[in-house]
Amino acid sequence: MTHSNTPSTLVMIFGATGDLAKRKLFPSLYHLYQKGRISKEFAVIGVARRDWSDEKFKEHVKSSVLNAIGTSENIDEFVSHFYYQSHDVSDSDSYQALKNLATELDERYQTNGNRIFYLAMAPEFFGTITDHLKADGLTDTSGYKRLVIEKPFGHNLESAEELNNRIRESFTEDQIYRIDHYLGKEMVQNIEVIRFANAFFEPLWNNRYISNIQVTSSEELGVEERGRYYEKSGALRDMVQNHMLQMVALLAMEPPIKLTTEEIRSEKVKVFRALRPLKDDEVDQYFVRGQYDKGVSKGQKVRGYREEENVDPSSNTETYVAGKLMIDNFRWAGVPFYIRTGKRMETKSTKIVIQFKDIPMNLYYGMDKPLAPNLLVIHIQPEEGITLHLNAKKSGQIIETTPVKLNFANTSIDAMNTPEAYEKLLHDCMRGDATNFTHWDEVKLSWAYVDEISKVWEATRDVNFPNYEAGSVGPKAADELLAKDHFHWWPILDLDVDQC
Ligand code: NAD
Repeated sequence: MTHSNTPSTLVMIFGATGDLAKRKLFPSLYHLYQKGRISKEFAVIGVARRDWSDEKFKEHVKSSVLNAIGTSENIDEFVSHFYYQSHDVSDSDSYQALKNLATELDERYQTNGNRIFYLAMAPEFFGTITDHLKADGLTDTSGYKRLVIEKPFGHNLESAEELNNRIRESFTEDQIYRIDHYLGKEMVQNIEVIRFANAFFEPLWNNRYISNIQVTSSEELGVEERGRYYEKSGALRDMVQNHMLQMVALLAMEPPIKLTTEEIRSEKVKVFRALRPLKDDEVDQYFVRGQYDKGVSKGQKVRGYREEENVDPSSNTETYVAGKLMIDNFRWAGVPFYIRTGKRMETKSTKIVIQFKDIPMNLYYGMDKPLAPNLLVIHIQPEEGITLHLNAKKSGQIIETTPVKLNFANTSIDAMNTPEAYEKLLHDCMRGDATNFTHWDEVKLSWAYVDEISKVWEATRDVNFPNYEAGSVGPKAADELLAKDHFHWWPILDLDVDQC
């Protein structure tokens, strides 16, 4: 195993007995360790409420890695870097004990005082923890200090601002790494490469050649056991404010002058600033909400959202959102960006479809009908790849066109080498690269946009929910949203890489 130049560091994971740590953080750290991407000089303190011993925690980390990856090479050596501290988030004595352990481990692992505080806990604790980290001296360190913070970052602009002001009392903006795990995904990072490293896309990437862009992120699952959280959130806050708007920003931004964090963020911020704000009476023309009813998913009968656990039987929380965003700048004036996201949809898929404008006329057989439009499809998950939809000659006597697909599937790369989003983001944080984390300016502008929609939705009591069947493609109104503009959603299942 070779070990990289990533600076040695001490990572404190708050919420280390939770789901995120188990499913994502420990396996990601293990991958980084196995690939030699983290310095041998690293230590992790798991911080949580339960009264666990170091040994119990090490066993937990071990089984999390085995469950997620199914391999155990060097696992004992790996878990020997893990320690556990039972903790009460609002008690200064707990932080004192944590500080003593941190100081001891700083020395033992020669971490030069570098500390990452990863808050994998419910957001209501974020402010309390950062206040204490400062007040109890954990941030007084000779090395770097970085705060990694999970979503949701507030539930509207006001609460996000409050949270931001509070954490800024203890950390500066450049020490805050706000996670949007979509930004760690291989194919989301590929959006910029596809655009800026290919001569034939960038010249066409504007309102002269692109007719519309569609971003879909659909889930097959329902709300599962997250009803309590989801009731207060809904799809707009849970998915649109962060992941969907981030993908739109990457698709729409101008080429940065350099690939630095500041330059990229500044271009993304300009997109958010150019988003056409919606007036109250325009919200319903631009946005559609939905809630799933009972139905059939993967051959199984499933219940409707209102019948789910911890959900109000008359809930008006949306489990689906479709929207049309307009970006009022020179490049994009007149090009709709359609987004849609929902639970209990027919398939799990995140895809981007860039639809090019029709060419002026069809010269070929069947000339009374328009040619199929050219599409560039970026497959984000579960399959990763790119498909280009073109027209070619159909074999035979007459000159007739047929749509063909050029595929690039990212499947040949073996699983161990394809880093998970969390793995990349943890590594970026250790290296001090904040490019794929969201800056406060982006969070602020995206909440301002989304708040306008929630305000109108919350004021409308008469919602026709449920309005789509589980296992379907969503409410009819979402189709009408595009039909008004003479477009339609490209059916997700027809676009899959594997079926080409
Ligand atoms: P979880 O409920 O599974 O875990 C919560 C953790 O916090 C546990 O370790 C628990 O011991 C600890 N905790 C709770 N109250 C405490 C207290 N008073 N003092 C000390 N420790 C306490 O939650 P999770 O699913 O791991 O999510 C954590 C964060 O990550 C949340 O902000 C969530 O929104 C976010 N997130 C989770 C996922 C996921 O896949 N689980 C995905 C994206 C974002």
